[in-house]
Amino acid sequence: MHTNLVTPSLMILVLAIAGCEKKNDSKQTPREAMPASASAQAHQHAPLNAKHGTHEDWCGAHQVPESLCTRCNPLLIPAFKATHDWCEGHGLPESQCLKCNPDLKIERPPKVGKK
Ligand SMILES: [Zn+2]
Ligand SMILES: [Zn+2]
Repeated sequence: MHTNLVTPSLMILVLAIAGCEKKNDSKQTPREAMPASASAQAHQHAPLNAKHGTHEDWCGAHQVPESLCTRCNPLLIPAFKATHDWCEGHGLPESQCLKCNPDLKIERPPKVGKK
């Protein structure tokens, strides 16, 4: 009797399933298309305790204040829509939509040196 042996066909089946799952995992991490210059700053996000409107409150990935970054925090979107500051075509606040307002410059507040 060889009851303890796993049949080779079963082993192959298990490996095939594991292989498929791995493939699916790698598919689920789409890379955001970003200009090369921005990619270095892609993960610079404000600390959670950053004060709104300060130098620290800045989303390096999207070049807007982190507290106003609808791409990092979609919960902000209804607030922009409520004030009619919303570009439906680009899915951005109108005040942050560089496609509609190419001259728009969103400036990061200067660092305050006080201690
Ligand atoms: Zn952001
Ligand atoms: Zn727009």
